[in-house]
Amino acid sequence: MDTRYDVIVIGAGAAGLTAGIYLARARLRTLIVDHGTVGGQMILTYEVANYPGVEKATGAAIVATMRRQAESFGARVIAHADIARLDLAASPKVVEVDDEGTFTAPAVILATGGVPRKLGLPSEAEFQGRGISFCATCDGDFFTDQDIVVIGGGNSALEEAVSLTQYARSVTVVHELDHFQAQPWAVDEARRNPKIRFLMEQEVRAFAGSERMQSVVVASKRTGEVTEIPATGAFLFIGYLPNTRHLEGLVKLTPRGEIVTDDQLRTDVPGVFAAGDAVAKRYRQITTAVADGTVAALAAADYVHSAAV
Ligand SMILES: Cc1cc2nc3c(=O)[nH]c(=O)nc-3n(C[C@H](O)[C@H](O)[C@H](O)COP(=O)(O)OP(=O)(O)OC[C@H]3O[C@@H](n4cnc5c(N)ncnc54)[C@H](O)[C@@H]3O)c2cc1C
Repeated sequence: MDTRYDVIVIGAGAAGLTAGIYLARARLRTLIVDHGTVGGQMILTYEVANYPGVEKATGAAIVATMRRQAESFGARVIAHADIARLDLAASPKVVEVDDEGTFTAPAVILATGGVPRKLGLPSEAEFQGRGISFCATCDGDFFTDQDIVVIGGGNSALEEAVSLTQYARSVTVVHELDHFQAQPWAVDEARRNPKIRFLMEQEVRAFAGSERMQSVVVASKRTGEVTEIPATGAFLFIGYLPNTRHLEGLVKLTPRGEIVTDDQLRTDVPGVFAAGDAVAKRYRQITTAVADGTVAALAAADYVHSAAV
């Protein structure tokens, strides 16, 4: 197997696979490496209803098609393989992959995505996708005329609580503090909404139900009083963790760990691009990851061609 590539993409989610499709189709030698399962967060999504051109499909089905497309153009995909060494300052750049070898390329695209922050309760994992969601845009519609809970107290939680009232019969916002960390306008908008009520200074103890979630159990942080809130849905907006720990000191990151890029998704290191949820940006969807993958691939292709001249 060749160890020299034109572009190495790290991360095989929506962004990385899209970059792979564009690069390989442009006849650039392309390697995509993922330390986990191909597909990233799309694999966690039971039903995707907002990806244009695909009316309703499982995340896994979209992943399988994207992978097939990338490989049909000649991209090589390595999954379930850890990256032992990443040298982005070298020329060419070096990516050493456990049990697979050492690969080089003049350009690298970082598409390592991220994960929504979780509470860490056993029942949270049990009901994920069966009542618990981390994405109002993706799943709000499934809770039409139902009672739901939103957990969190920042801008995302309050903005998403308001947006969820277009579907839900009622939205109970549960927050651990006695005040919100959101901007005043977001708090005002949520407070003005008659469908939203607030339970402050509450600790989420458990999610309960049988096949699907049916209630959220909370306890007052002041009195210890336990309340069971009947709800068929719980949306968690308690933060987002980009998968960029391994990039600290290699490329410029925001204080939250998101990769800083320009409008062509170039990082501060020449020849290193970034795409998808790991990038510092406001909206994180499959469509935005796919768009980023396209831009990063085209910019990386330009870079490789100009470097070769
Ligand atoms: C439960 C859930 C439901 C969602 N539903 C929808 C929906 O219906 N519609 C929608 O548009 N969006 C939805 N989203 C959001 C959407 O899935 C993401 O915005 C999008 O998939 C992000 O793609 P990505 O390629 O940027 O990152 P990811 O999907 O996170 O992929 C990153 C990949 O990089 C790999 N990786 C990470 N670190 C490393 C490393 N150090 N070395 C090698 N590989 C690494 C990971 O294993 C992963 O495969 C949902 C998200 C979740 C969590």
